[in-house]
Amino acid sequence: MKNRITELLGIRYPIIQGGMQWVGRAELAAAVSNAGGLGTLGALTQPTPEDLGREIERCRTLTDKPFGVNVTMLPTVNPPPYERIFDVIVQSGIRIVETAGNVPAAVFDRLRAAGIVIVHKCTSVRHALAAEKRGVHIVSIDGFECAGHPGEEDVPGLVLIPAAVAALGVPVIASGGIADGRGMAAALSLGAEGVNMGTRFVATREAPVHENVKQALVKARENETRLIMRTLRNSSRVLLNPVSEEVLELEHRPGGAAFEVLRPLVNGQRGRAALESGDITNGVIWAGMVAGLIDDIPSCGELIERMVTQCRARLAAATALTAA
Ligand code: NAD
Repeated sequence: MKNRITELLGIRYPIIQGGMQWVGRAELAAAVSNAGGLGTLGALTQPTPEDLGREIERCRTLTDKPFGVNVTMLPTVNPPPYERIFDVIVQSGIRIVETAGNVPAAVFDRLRAAGIVIVHKCTSVRHALAAEKRGVHIVSIDGFECAGHPGEEDVPGLVLIPAAVAALGVPVIASGGIADGRGMAAALSLGAEGVNMGTRFVATREAPVHENVKQALVKARENETRLIMRTLRNSSRVLLNPVSEEVLELEHRPGGAAFEVLRPLVNGQRGRAALESGDITNGVIWAGMVAGLIDDIPSCGELIERMVTQCRARLAAATALTAA
């Protein structure tokens, strides 16, 4: 499975674990990288840039394979010290950074100057083209099915992936809606050179979240996510639960709801507490529609190996079909 993505990232299989808030910690990132994919630490998961530096070191004790760091630049309750976060990333010798959100051109310039491979995650072809012009090496295009922030244009992967591939010169990673080798084969057939998965990796043995969260993903069907914060143009796909229902109810009242009204419900610390305590009805749990495709909790190694096997079988079957 050699292509531009595996070469640029130095990995065996073009399977990337997205840098999820509160989940992208060393245990998970190292497990994915050890299994031949690319693990990713979430920079904002760590309380301070210095803690991020320590987490990078901890990850290095768990794997000798490449791993990346995600830095998301979207609205936050407390503004993160981005400058110092990038200082730590550069100083610690990280070779791969996944960026997301509104990233200033100067950040891309700085990362490039440090020899870092930039994977920029975005949800529209327009933003992907702008990022390519600013020098990112890889675009990770996130379809409407995805967990987290799908943007406001609602274009699903089946259209967004080939549209991005057609428009861009840099290699494309397909993100959103992928949970297994069938999805991977589909993404590669659409011209992507790799796949990014978040929700699927939450339901693995190594993911540092409570077992109840993993079981909730196993139980959830594909129609059991909700888009909250649409009215603030900060759409966020999360699991259906009493908190997401309450947010929607507040948003749909006449006049809507200001962020300050929603903040006690959606704030990340509350979501983190739910992930760690297992009280999954008491905070926002980010999840993509692929929850409907998850029915077990394998190790990252088992997941990646069976994905690759299934992907190869699907691509071979398609090739046989065209040869017949
Ligand atoms: P947080 O506690 O800072 O904020 C909670 C949620 O409220 C987030 O969705 C955030 O975007 C939103 N928010 C914050 N301030 C806002 C404002 N003034 N107006 C509108 N919306 C606002 O978030 P956190 O859980 O600590 O996460 C840290 C960062 O990581 C946030 O920017 C969050 O959006 C991002 N994140 C991204 C994903 C993803 O899928 N890419 C998933 C989880 C979190």
